[in-house]
Amino acid sequence: MTAPGVVYLVGAGPGDPGLLTLRGGELLVTCDAVVYDALANPALLALASVGEREAPVEMHDVGKRGGAFDSARQDEINALLVQLATEGKRVVRLKGGDPLVFGRGSEEAQALAAAGVRFEIVPGVTAGIAAPTYAGIPVTHRGLATSVTFVTGHEDPTKDANSVDWSALARAGGTIVLYMGVKTLPRTAAALIAGGMPADTPAAAVEWGTYPRQRVVTATLSGLSDAMRREGLGAPVITIIGPVVSLRGEIGWFDRRPLFGKRIVVTRARSQAASLSERLAALGAEVIEMPATRIERADPEPLRAAVGRISEYGWVVFTSQNAVRMFWDALRADSRDSRALAAAKIAAVGPTTASALLDRGLAVDVAPDRFVAEALLDELRLRGDMRGARVLYVAAEDARETLRDGLDELGATVDRVVAYRSVPDGAGAAQLRERLLDDGAELVTFTSASSVNAFVSAVGADAARRVPAASIGPITADAARAAGLDVVVEAAESTISGLADAIAAHFANAPAPI
Ligand code: SAH
Repeated sequence: MTAPGVVYLVGAGPGDPGLLTLRGGELLVTCDAVVYDALANPALLALASVGEREAPVEMHDVGKRGGAFDSARQDEINALLVQLATEGKRVVRLKGGDPLVFGRGSEEAQALAAAGVRFEIVPGVTAGIAAPTYAGIPVTHRGLATSVTFVTGHEDPTKDANSVDWSALARAGGTIVLYMGVKTLPRTAAALIAGGMPADTPAAAVEWGTYPRQRVVTATLSGLSDAMRREGLGAPVITIIGPVVSLRGEIGWFDRRPLFGKRIVVTRARSQAASLSERLAALGAEVIEMPATRIERADPEPLRAAVGRISEYGWVVFTSQNAVRMFWDALRADSRDSRALAAAKIAAVGPTTASALLDRGLAVDVAPDRFVAEALLDELRLRGDMRGARVLYVAAEDARETLRDGLDELGATVDRVVAYRSVPDGAGAAQLRERLLDDGAELVTFTSASSVNAFVSAVGADAARRVPAASIGPITADAARAAGLDVVVEAAESTISGLADAIAAHFANAPAPI
């Protein structure tokens, strides 16, 4: 018997992934299916695939292409939710902002109730609060506004039935926050002014609020529509009308961060790069991480043969956890386990490699303090027992020859068996290339010479050369210049924080106007 399904109507927040609730995040990583709209942030959808599940999570894109009030589509969405729940699934219906604020979440709940499907509703941060906040505009402020009205601009103000009572709103005196109001703004403004609101009431439009591409236009009520047209603002936009808008000059913050509006590509040749992304994002940059490489298994035959004669080796050397994994798979495929290494000594270059071995019941005999091949060779040399030893070295295809040459020099007989290679993530690279050609980027960061090569071969030399480069140090900078890139930032101190500081200093000379 299958467990009864359940639908969670989850507010995704306005866009910034950090504004998803804990409850929403927990449901996304544990659910069986996600049903989402056009405005869903891909970063949140990615969350859905991090959970460990028996079957991959089902993703249903129900972007309402016919417009927000396409009721035929809405019936289909309701039917899909009922069907998925009937199949016993735990379904997240992800909705922008708050599910019940101009989001038709209540209609979906009605359909679920009518069909007898269990559901829960998880509130979200609505755009009408978040977009003003990220623009430095409080929706209430002592002495300026003691009430706030959320109103849809979608209703045609010239229509009689069901339309908003704009003149009552004009007289109410609080802040007005308008959703879906771009097209109707001229008529809305006219109706408010006709109802007695001063034409010079401060007003603001926030486009893509809380996203790195957020733009804000401020004007008077009567001038806002023209100002938006001049700046080319288009949906999604939240419009705020009222004296509170004047506080933006004083408490605007989001778009004043040092790297706001800067699109920066972070290449990930080192695991430290994640912390570089975090630092740059914290300074306000829009960070695009270059897709990581994929690990691909090499021809399995040489490794299988090596496993077949494993008892002949006195030493087995691993330089990565991938090598450990590939070796282990080959061992298991031969119906053997850690006992096959009972007589051999084991060397590992770094702590992650050593812990991958320990996970499989194998403690290493030699692990250097510094995690490079040279340090491992130093340790082995000190032992003085390598002469004549037979060594199996499980390697990556593109590994340096340092280890093999060094072991040769110590008098060991080395079998270097290629177990895997790292290949660029093709689909991700093609996407990044498109993006760079379409939108460009202010900067690409490099933390090693190999990250330069990886970037150029991933996106192509023509796309790569369009992006100014930031380098962690002189050797990396030389590699970037050799690849034809324009190095505009070089870290004074060759560390991740030195690089982040140099980038901030580079852009500090040209702050974004507010
Ligand atoms: N349920 C949503 C609103 C859905 S109606 C919520 O609570 O936020 C869609 C409208 O929301 C858009 O037309 C726009 O007015 C507003 N909106 C949604 N996300 C936005 C964003 N990031 N920036 C500005 N406006 C946004």
